[in-house]
Amino acid sequence: MSDDAARRSELRSNLTTVEQRIAAACDAAGRRRDEVRLIVVTKTFPATDVRILHDLGVTQVGENRDQEAAVKAAELQGLSAVEWHMIGQLQTNKAKSVAQWASTVHSVNSTRLVRALGKAAASRDASALGCLVQVNLDPQTDAPAGRGGADPAEVRDLADLIASTDGLELRGVMAVAPRGGDPGPAFQCLQSISLALRQDHPAATWISAGMSGDLEAAIGFGATHLRVGGAVLGNRPPLA
Ligand SMILES: *Cc1c(COP(=O)(O)O)cnc(C)c1O
Repeated sequence: MSDDAARRSELRSNLTTVEQRIAAACDAAGRRRDEVRLIVVTKTFPATDVRILHDLGVTQVGENRDQEAAVKAAELQGLSAVEWHMIGQLQTNKAKSVAQWASTVHSVNSTRLVRALGKAAASRDASALGCLVQVNLDPQTDAPAGRGGADPAEVRDLADLIASTDGLELRGVMAVAPRGGDPGPAFQCLQSISLALRQDHPAATWISAGMSGDLEAAIGFGATHLRVGGAVLGNRPPLA
């Protein structure tokens, strides 16, 4: 078997396993499978893996660094069915680049970033740039890097600002469960923040929650978009 064929069969088998987990969790939660979308997180993995995933029917792909994602997206421009999601912490000076490849930014956590993304969205020829407010659900204030989000009390103002910014579309909320322990309470909290938000913004229905280790709990608390990396792609190569 060639390397490519071996990788293809590995990814196919991992996808099948993840698909079974999602189906079982939807069953247990009394939800329909089509209420939940799988975003496969391909950070640190090469564009060739994204191409294989596309062949296997994956259309939603997540990345956490602008530089890496911009190169991959450019390399795969021909795969027009693939939608790219920005899920990582984002500096305002990267907003313009991200607006060129991302369909939705899951990690919007400050008014400065909303303003930068609004400006950047003007240079898109595509549709509005989707935005999710990332919520910090970690009670410890010194949340580890990469898990940062807006304070729950700031969600409403950020959401209002996104909704009133030309070129941006408020789609919902996102969070990463605090490390260690039961992720349930954090996901439950995110679900109630989402319900409150939808009183004012009924179209902001996305709840982006759940990763390889906790997707079942996230589905139990209403997740609409899962961000799954390792369970599909295997262990991430160490960062260079
Ligand atoms: C890497 C990453 C994921 C995927 O995590 P896995 O544990 O590999 O499934 C999800 N969300 C964010 C924000 C990430 O950075």
